[in-house]
Amino acid sequence: MTEQLDATHPDLVTVKVPTHWYNLAAELDEPIPPHLHPGTREPVGPDDLAPLFASALIAQEVASETYIEIPQEVREIYAMWRPSPLIRARRFEKALNTGAHIYVKYEGVSPVGSHKTNSAVAQAYYNHIDGVRKLTTETGAGQWGSALSFAGAQFGLEVEVWQVRASYESKPYRGHLIRTYGGTVHSSPSTLTEAGRAILAKDPDTTGSLGMAVSEAVEVAAADPEARYALGSVLNHVVLHQTVIGQEAVAQLALVEPDGADVVFGCAGGGSNLAGLSFPFLREKIHGRSNPRIVAAEPAACPSITRGEYRYDHGDVAGLTPLLKMHTLGMDFVPDPIHAGGLRYHGMAPALSHTVELGLVEGVAISQHDAFAAGVQFARTQGIVPAPESTHAIAAAAAHVADDPREQVVVIGLSGHGQLDLPAYAEYLDGKF
Ligand SMILES: *Cc1c(COP(=O)(O)O)cnc(C)c1O
Repeated sequence: MTEQLDATHPDLVTVKVPTHWYNLAAELDEPIPPHLHPGTREPVGPDDLAPLFASALIAQEVASETYIEIPQEVREIYAMWRPSPLIRARRFEKALNTGAHIYVKYEGVSPVGSHKTNSAVAQAYYNHIDGVRKLTTETGAGQWGSALSFAGAQFGLEVEVWQVRASYESKPYRGHLIRTYGGTVHSSPSTLTEAGRAILAKDPDTTGSLGMAVSEAVEVAAADPEARYALGSVLNHVVLHQTVIGQEAVAQLALVEPDGADVVFGCAGGGSNLAGLSFPFLREKIHGRSNPRIVAAEPAACPSITRGEYRYDHGDVAGLTPLLKMHTLGMDFVPDPIHAGGLRYHGMAPALSHTVELGLVEGVAISQHDAFAAGVQFARTQGIVPAPESTHAIAAAAAHVADDPREQVVVIGLSGHGQLDLPAYAEYLDGKF
């Protein structure tokens, strides 16, 4: 039966779009450590966060319910591309000479080509019902900026994006996409903010970083009563929104693999796509239905889980954000300008860091060369060109199963496609790294 049913079978795309987001924290004995006020070092309250975030998002940050209903308007937009496919990667399996059954959960089918829209739509919706006029944000490779611009267009919100200079210059296409959706994009650090001007005064040639871009976007939102800020990863509410990925994957996998997953791999920059994919699998573990290992693949150039410290740190370079308990390389850490722009962040989601501390999630660091080698092998066998970020998960999974005859069930989070990242592939193919 399992042999007959391929994961591309129509049954697998008929699983329902989830009606609720899943809050793993509600099922853990130990709570996620609270965010602290940067001045008082006391837990932040709703009033501290109100200038920056919509009220429903602030509530979701500390939610204690296990399931939180997804508003109907958000579900209708999700239904434009969800459920996303779970694909059995048989040709990739063959190339790896493995007995493993490899499934990829493919978020590249979203309008902008990545999982980021899952949270962008929810955040734009809640800001819209709060009467907000404009959202500001940062972006690395441009996935989050374009996702938020798309989401803003659905609800009539203005979107202003600060894009890390290294990506703004080397990857202009997503900047064009942001503008196509009606958003505005600036290279960060910019001269438009105090934070940006201070950084440029010290280091005019900086390649930029997500931490710097966050400072700029937060500064502008905090100064404008009609504007709020939106973060594309890291925070608990973002992780929550991404759990549609894992809930669908668990349901899709159950149709073909009755024992569930043995190992789940995802790439981790701020941690949201991996947490969104893996937390529903951890639910299966907590309830004794399966016992999957969860592996976070991070770039060797920015290894917050495998090399960072677990402590309170700021989410940005200027120290404007709350202190977050997380695996961090330090708020001043500026990673090399690697191609996986979405993985160039100094910290890791407190929710994911917490599961690492509890022994539920492990980390592995992957070099940029190995990541792209796996990405090319995946493209040549399965046809899909993975986002540079996603290639880290593919490389970690490939190293785990290659030449191993065991019939383990492996799920890989394919967080996005790389059709707008082909210059990075060209550099790899030209032997530049
Ligand atoms: C932003 C991004 C990531 C990294 O962010 P996480 O919060 O770790 O998921 C990974 N893959 C893609 C395609 C991205 O756009």
